[in-house]
Amino acid sequence: TRTHEEEDLPHATKKTMADHLRKYDSLFTLTPQRMRMVVEAFKDTLELGLQKPQQPMIPTYVFGWPTGTEIGDFLAVDLGGTNLRVCLVNLQGEGKFEITQAKYRLTEEQKQDDGQKLFDFCAECLKTFVDTNLADDNGELSLRPGETLPLGFTFSYPCSQERIDHGVLIRWTKGFGAPNTEGRDVAEMFRQSLAKYKLPIALTALINDTTGTLIASHYVNPRTKIAVIFGTGCNAAYMEKVGDIEKIKSLGIDEDAEMAINCEWGAFDSFEHEHLPRTKYDIIVDETSNKPGEQAFEKLISGRYLGEILRLVICELIDEGVLFLGQETYKLEIPYVFETAFLSLMESDPTDELLMIIGIFTHFFAVETTLAERQFFRALAKLIGRRAARLSACGIAAIVSKMGYLDEGCSVGADGSLYNKYPGFADRVHEGLQDIFGDKGKNIVTYHAEDGSGVGSAIIAAMTKLRKDVGLY
Ligand code: BGC
Ligand code: MG
Repeated sequence: TRTHEEEDLPHATKKTMADHLRKYDSLFTLTPQRMRMVVEAFKDTLELGLQKPQQPMIPTYVFGWPTGTEIGDFLAVDLGGTNLRVCLVNLQGEGKFEITQAKYRLTEEQKQDDGQKLFDFCAECLKTFVDTNLADDNGELSLRPGETLPLGFTFSYPCSQERIDHGVLIRWTKGFGAPNTEGRDVAEMFRQSLAKYKLPIALTALINDTTGTLIASHYVNPRTKIAVIFGTGCNAAYMEKVGDIEKIKSLGIDEDAEMAINCEWGAFDSFEHEHLPRTKYDIIVDETSNKPGEQAFEKLISGRYLGEILRLVICELIDEGVLFLGQETYKLEIPYVFETAFLSLMESDPTDELLMIIGIFTHFFAVETTLAERQFFRALAKLIGRRAARLSACGIAAIVSKMGYLDEGCSVGADGSLYNKYPGFADRVHEGLQDIFGDKGKNIVTYHAEDGSGVGSAIIAAMTKLRKDVGLY
């Protein structure tokens, strides 16, 4: 790759790029004061959600923390925003486990094709996995007559539940649009697919990835009180006292029991757009999405959208004649071509010349850049990534403050590609917590969570079995 001197091409100069950066800096930067306002509104939404049905704050029917006595073999299927994963988890008690797994990338077509077909694909992958990992040389499973293998199904979309082994899909998120699925019981749909493949498997628990992460993280680190996912989508779960979940009071469940709540916080401020600082790029992302108005918080934070936000800024500067004058830019003009992984790479480029950024722009988009432009792109990535982390801190702070966890402090199990791979994301979340709470913010510490969709789902399947054995639901 060859770099250009600034005189070579009619590229934007250092000074013009710095001027533009100032504008974006003020658009994307969140002051501590603004963050505290978001936290207050967030807290109100969480509280209201516990009262009203069909709001976020979904009761999960996962009762209390694991005890460490959960043991045995469990299958788990994890249908996420990007991949399908099949796992076999061997729980050994006392926070120990072993896991065997296979991963399949989902295609864009599968996300939009008929829902039953998607579950058929899950069942097909599960069959392959079972045949490879569990069957003997004759292809037989060593099961007693009538015996079935317990399966936890991690389905990372909002479902309303009345029991642990059922759940009606409220709406697709993260760009999924498979028809004939919203409003239906996805556990039942998956059971139909399992029957097609004649699998001796019983779907015993339908769980959200955040709930799985909450349970799995607590299994290895009992200081954990909250779990968060920052991946293709974003969301959180925590443990609530049943007596404080107004909307399920009529069920007569022991009020002193505890139940995990799936916050579905990605939906915070949806449709109303009263509280979140949206820029015009965020509004374009929203309006051109397959679900305008929905998942307002998630669209500012999660991995599915950050690259697109940056791309929209670049396109604006192309239109204004600031960037890439005289170059062919059509490759940059396609929605969602600019992946969030590029932002991670740009932020972590260790070279003075920003060679990795040269690579991204020449290799993927066939445009040449000056150093001033590259510095600008890197700074822009930082603004967008930092805003995402600080808004994430607002969500965590809302739960902490609602539950009164600040003085005692707590651990927050965190997972997802953004949290795990985006450089500095966790540090920025912690910084944000201190901007909100002052020094006490240091009491809230996020850490990389145990595999919630696999291990968590297995533990929940085991907890469910233990409860059933003593006649609870
Ligand atoms: C979904 C949540 C999920 C989150 C993280 C969101 O889009 O609505 O159910 O927990 O993504 O995967
Ligand atoms: Mg996932």
